[in-house]
Amino acid sequence: MPTIPRLFVDRPLQSGADIAGSAGQAHYLGSVMRRAVGDEVCVFNGRDGEWRAHISALRRDRIAFRLEAQLRPQAPEDDLWLVFALLKRDTTDLVVEKATELGASLIQPVITDRTNAARVNEARLLAIATEAAEQCERLTIPEVRSPRPLPDMLATWPANRPLFAAIERSDAAPIKPFSGPCALLVGPEGGFSPAELDALQRYQFVAPVTLGPRVLRAETACLAGLTLLRSGGCR
Ligand code: SAH
Repeated sequence: MPTIPRLFVDRPLQSGADIAGSAGQAHYLGSVMRRAVGDEVCVFNGRDGEWRAHISALRRDRIAFRLEAQLRPQAPEDDLWLVFALLKRDTTDLVVEKATELGASLIQPVITDRTNAARVNEARLLAIATEAAEQCERLTIPEVRSPRPLPDMLATWPANRPLFAAIERSDAAPIKPFSGPCALLVGPEGGFSPAELDALQRYQFVAPVTLGPRVLRAETACLAGLTLLRSGGCR
C-alpha cells in the first residue's frame, strides 16, 4: 500500500471543505509522488488537528484537497524552546530539522561574541521545519524566530521559564529530565566568551548544565540536550 502523504496546509480545516494547497504541494504530489485526483492525503494546520482528505483537483501548479474526517483532534504539544548560537548554513538546517523531530516548539538562533554567521533565510528554515513536522507526525510546526543578540534575548527572557545553559568543561550539574516549559541554550563552535559566561551567571532563570566530559560539536549539544531534557518522557 502506498504511504499516505502528510501535508501542512495553513487553512481552516472542517468537514467537507475544499482547500487549496501550494504550488509546491501540487508539484510534489503530482510529479514526484505521482498521485492523482481521488488519492488520499492527511492534512494538518497546527490548530484544527489532523484530517483525512483526498485530492479533489490537480494541475501542474495547483492542487485542492477535500476534507473528509478528523483523524486526531488538536492536542497540546511539548513546550520546549531551543536557543542556539547561529551555525553555518548546513548545520543550522540540520539543527532545525532534528529539533523539530525532537519536539522543540520554538527555535531561536542567537548571535554571540564568537558567532560567525548573522543571517538566516527564514523561509528556508520554516520549510525545513514544516517538512520535518509533516514527516514526524507532529500537529504543529515550531516557530522559527529570526536571530537576535544573546544579551537582548537574556534581557527580555520570561523569568518563569528555566534556561538550561550548556557549558562545556564546567562543574555544572549534569543535565537531567525536566518536564515543564523550559529552554536549552547552546553556544557557538568557539564556545561562550568569558563575558557571556559571566552574564549568564547573573540571571536567576539560567541553570548551567553539563552534557558530560567530552566537548561536543554545537549541533550534537543541541540534539543531545533536547533529548536529555525530555528523557523522563513527555507528551
Ligand atoms: N570550542 C569550544 C567548545 C564549544 S562546543 C572549546 O573548545 O572550548 C559548542 C557548544 O556546545 C558550547 O558552547 C556548549 O554550549 C555546548 N557543549 C559542548 N560540549 C558540551 C558539554 N560537554 N557540556 C555542556 N555543553 C556542551
